[in-house]
Amino acid sequence: MSATALHARTLAELADGLAKREFSSVELTRHLLGRLEAAQPRLNAMISITGEAALAAAAQADGALAAGKAGPLTGLPIVHKDIFCTEGVRTTCGSRMLGNFISPYDATPVAKLKAAGTVLLGKSNMDEFAMGSSNETSWFGPVRNPWNTDLVPGGSSGGSAALVGARLAPAATGTDTGGSIRQPAALTGVTGLKPTYGRVSRYGMIAFASSLDQAGMLAVSAEDCALLLGAIAGFDPRDSTSVERPVPDYHAALATPARGLRIGLVKEFFGAGLDAGNEKLLREAFAVFERLGATLEEVSLPNIGLSVPTYYVVAPAECSSNLARFDGVRYGHRCADPKDLLDLYQRSRGEGFGAEVKRRIMTGTYVLSAGYYDAYYLKAQRVRQLISADFARAFERVDVLMGPATPTPAFPLGAKTADPVTMYLNDIYTIGANLAGLPALSTPCGFVDGLPVGLQIIGPHFAEEKLLAAAHAFQRETDWHRRMPAEFA
Ligand code: GLN
Repeated sequence: MSATALHARTLAELADGLAKREFSSVELTRHLLGRLEAAQPRLNAMISITGEAALAAAAQADGALAAGKAGPLTGLPIVHKDIFCTEGVRTTCGSRMLGNFISPYDATPVAKLKAAGTVLLGKSNMDEFAMGSSNETSWFGPVRNPWNTDLVPGGSSGGSAALVGARLAPAATGTDTGGSIRQPAALTGVTGLKPTYGRVSRYGMIAFASSLDQAGMLAVSAEDCALLLGAIAGFDPRDSTSVERPVPDYHAALATPARGLRIGLVKEFFGAGLDAGNEKLLREAFAVFERLGATLEEVSLPNIGLSVPTYYVVAPAECSSNLARFDGVRYGHRCADPKDLLDLYQRSRGEGFGAEVKRRIMTGTYVLSAGYYDAYYLKAQRVRQLISADFARAFERVDVLMGPATPTPAFPLGAKTADPVTMYLNDIYTIGANLAGLPALSTPCGFVDGLPVGLQIIGPHFAEEKLLAAAHAFQRETDWHRRMPAEFA
């Protein structure tokens, strides 16, 4: 093991090395900070790098390790998506609107990971207010894919995904409102988990669409996702939608074999639009599960085809309400020399938000307005129920659902920016799980022309253990998740 470069190791392997004093947290942190700085001009994956604070936290972790007071995550470096409030550290949400915002408090997942002894390396780049599928809407410029820097890494957690893909950090947090963890995880060859809605507190996570937003993580392996989920899951009195339910031992659950697992293959996910190369790899992955003793059957989600239009009514509606607070008075960027109050609002919002955020606010305001509310918003809520019912019916027959995470491998920067609808269709396989509040993950399952492809696994509410165990079983049989882009190896 000691022959493996530090950056190529998983969190679990790094924890083992720290425990055995093979290296210190300060050494590990210094190594990764050097890689982060060197890769920044190529990938633009970070918005802030907090080197000094990281080295201080690492020294403190080394102290805890020496004193025998370490937990399983003590001294492990991570990065937070810049949507999570971090005390004393700039928190921009990828927007000019919050370009100078220093948060006075920590989001709950940040506080929990800090208490667990992790070392924060900095904040990752992201689509502005998490709106996007390619990480091209950030005020801080696009993120590039480490497998080919002419291509997008996916979005909106594209910085977190690119970092882990390039092994600049072993793991990073992300958020998933319509696919923003699973889709970039798939396009960069990493493992990404979106937990059940309510499993992880949303306190301190800047809101986009509150009934859909969920915090999760991107890491090299399913095992690492299990370690991190155990640390951030649980009830939080400061988030009334977080669920009061015990947190299981996700790591122990990884040992559950795939034998007897009933896998449903979503019929509607294998139609037109799915790249033939992606489909071939998915079929090979299903064969791996079959060899392990799982059973496969086709299931149908008859209303899933309505998930993209439903999401693009519900999410903008909620965003138009959530983003009303950024007016240059209560929160956010304020324009220079306003001539009156209206001018202050108009120019502050006009300057602070980018084009995609404005498009969502306008769509959302429209679908909530008198006369259109019933026709659009209420109807979308009804369809959302139908989609949830489809999933519930499927889970009467199978334990998990499997299918693609994305229609194609990563695409070139700029390829879809002129046409929002084409961009929105990227999330066709991921949005359903958000509308129904279900947990879902993406694990690497192979390469098409040198670009990674993701296998999506969706489970019933609070079935994270099943998803992680299935992905872990797959990752023990395959090494796709251990592949690294040559430029960053
Ligand atoms: N791509 C989707 C959107 O643009 C989902 C984003 C997300 O999950 N945050 O809204």
